[in-house]
Amino acid sequence: MNNHVTILEIDKKAILYNFQYFKKKLESTTKVLVVVKAFGYGSDAVEVAKIVEEQVDYFAVAYSYEGVVLREAGIKTPILVLHPQLQNMEQIVRYHLEPGLYSFKTLNAFLKLADEKPLMNYPIHIKFNTGLNRLGFSHSDVPSILIELKKSNNVVAKSIFTHLAASEDLHEYEFTVGQINNFAFIVKKIYDHLGYKPIIHALNTSGIINYSKAQFDMVRLGIGLYGFGNTPKETQNLKNTHNLKSIISQIRTIQPGETVGYNRAFVASKLTKSATIPIGHADGISRRLGNKNGFVTINNNIAPIIGNVCMDMIIVDVTKIDCNEGDEVIIFNNQKHIEFIASKCETIPYEILTSISQRVKRLVKN
Ligand SMILES: *Cc1c(COP(=O)(O)O)cnc(C)c1O
Repeated sequence: MNNHVTILEIDKKAILYNFQYFKKKLESTTKVLVVVKAFGYGSDAVEVAKIVEEQVDYFAVAYSYEGVVLREAGIKTPILVLHPQLQNMEQIVRYHLEPGLYSFKTLNAFLKLADEKPLMNYPIHIKFNTGLNRLGFSHSDVPSILIELKKSNNVVAKSIFTHLAASEDLHEYEFTVGQINNFAFIVKKIYDHLGYKPIIHALNTSGIINYSKAQFDMVRLGIGLYGFGNTPKETQNLKNTHNLKSIISQIRTIQPGETVGYNRAFVASKLTKSATIPIGHADGISRRLGNKNGFVTINNNIAPIIGNVCMDMIIVDVTKIDCNEGDEVIIFNNQKHIEFIASKCETIPYEILTSISQRVKRLVKN
């Protein structure tokens, strides 16, 4: 059992609050898919799924095995696999996962498997590229896709979807509206010829915020559930879900002239009290946060990280802080701090959350 003292606390109330916040932005009939890929954005996919499963219509994961983990934990909700590989199709069927097919290679592989089994009306999802140029069929593929779908009763197109390239950036408003219009055009062609109506979806979190008119039948909520709205203003309306904590392992007194940590990167100019914390770059604390670029909070005081971040430890300056070995250390517990860390690391909060290593113990706070 993982009894590590460095803990990522997953705030259940905050997750439910954020879910409701987005739910209120939507028409009451719009379905919600919650994205729990990458361990639930670095938290715990199974725990997040359990927290919201009663209220969601779908879950999505990136890879097949992430869906298997949810099924093995007893999650019964439909699960869309966003990025299946040819090698994963058997497993997808075995665990009743639903593939997001994005090319004729993946579609034909799945149709072949569905025919061999045989499967009846197995739910599949068709992804269209409308400008992200990452994964997806192109609009010119529609006639051939329709032929395949109409030929087969082994599968049904449960949904048709696309993904926006810059939904968080209003400077790209025209481009995004273009993506939405192209998608609507594809959807119309499919509606006209398929004979039944798949679920239509396009919006991620920032899409819900900025383009709610394009919510179609379902939205795909990811980062918003985890407390980030991709602008400081929207983030203010959300609650923080990831609280990363540890404790002080050792307090030391550093004499003037002595150094701290690898490469002797911190040199004490005066008598310094340091605290060593059991979390390091192997846990997702970037080396860029060393040498006073980052900080932790101890007994409500800011303690700068001194010297280089080690693999398993950081050392912080607690000269002015009343603290003892064993005291709680907050690595972060609010979005402002996570955004600060992201900016210091020249990245976005998504990467800070998903970088928290699996060595860190996960705990749900009810
Ligand atoms: C990850 C992902 C999402 C979720 O995006 P957020 O910005 O986190 O809301 C939605 N759709 C697809 C296809 C994705 O890959």
